[in-house]
Amino acid sequence: MAGIVAVFDFDKTIIDLDSDNWVVDELGFTDLFNQLLPTMPWNTLMDTMMKELHSNGKTIDDIVKVLERVPIHPRIVPAIKAAHALGCELRIVSDANLFFIETIVKHLGLTDYFSEINTNPSYVDEEGRLKIFPCHDFHSSPHGCNLCPPNMCKGMVMERIQASVASEGKKKFIYLGDGSGDFCPSLKLREGDHVMPRKDYPVWDLICKNRPHIKAEIHEWSDGEDLERVLLQLIHTISMEEANKLFAEECKFETIPMAAHESLPKAVSVPH
Ligand SMILES: [Mg+2]
Ligand SMILES: [Zn+2]
Repeated sequence: MAGIVAVFDFDKTIIDLDSDNWVVDELGFTDLFNQLLPTMPWNTLMDTMMKELHSNGKTIDDIVKVLERVPIHPRIVPAIKAAHALGCELRIVSDANLFFIETIVKHLGLTDYFSEINTNPSYVDEEGRLKIFPCHDFHSSPHGCNLCPPNMCKGMVMERIQASVASEGKKKFIYLGDGSGDFCPSLKLREGDHVMPRKDYPVWDLICKNRPHIKAEIHEWSDGEDLERVLLQLIHTISMEEANKLFAEECKFETIPMAAHESLPKAVSVPH
């Protein structure tokens, strides 16, 4: 039961849009964002946008209020709670930032359901401005993956997670995502793992075009209702397989002592 690790992307997987765009658009900074977009990496741009918001009088409270009304499909929260109740360990791997994700996850009442959030670090400084940093420092130690943006290789994060749970016995992974950044971690999945790409989104296209490179089983989904159905079905199927395997092993185990017993010398033959 507890042998499953479900790894969720955040934007357009848990919530129904991109949290970065949502904050910028809702606070009325779309034009500036579009103007600066061609000039710097996304992660640097978001940090710059936070500086702009702050110098234009937008407070952390304004950002929190916007984050708290982010659109989410009504079946996502029940799906996450059900997966957790079925014994899955849940993690988030996202190219948004920690402040946005923690604020939304807390607002949804899901803080205790995730064991780990892997994302770009961020914090509110003493002046009340949100600072956003890259997950991997691309100046001092570039990750060297040409599939991923310079600030974050989700595949590297995935490998770290795989290594961190390796000592806990055989775990099966379910990876859920929508974006092109979710392709790299999908490639890291092994046989017996499962990938849930959002249908008609970039990761789905990439997976469809590169099927021979994907070792995991592929299960597409299109909206929150679909995500819930596919995810829970998958967890049930995996749990059933695990239970059957355990049962088969127990049966095998029971026959060993019987056979061993028969070959033991008879106790009565031991001389006094
Ligand atoms: Mg996404
Ligand atoms: Zn990568």
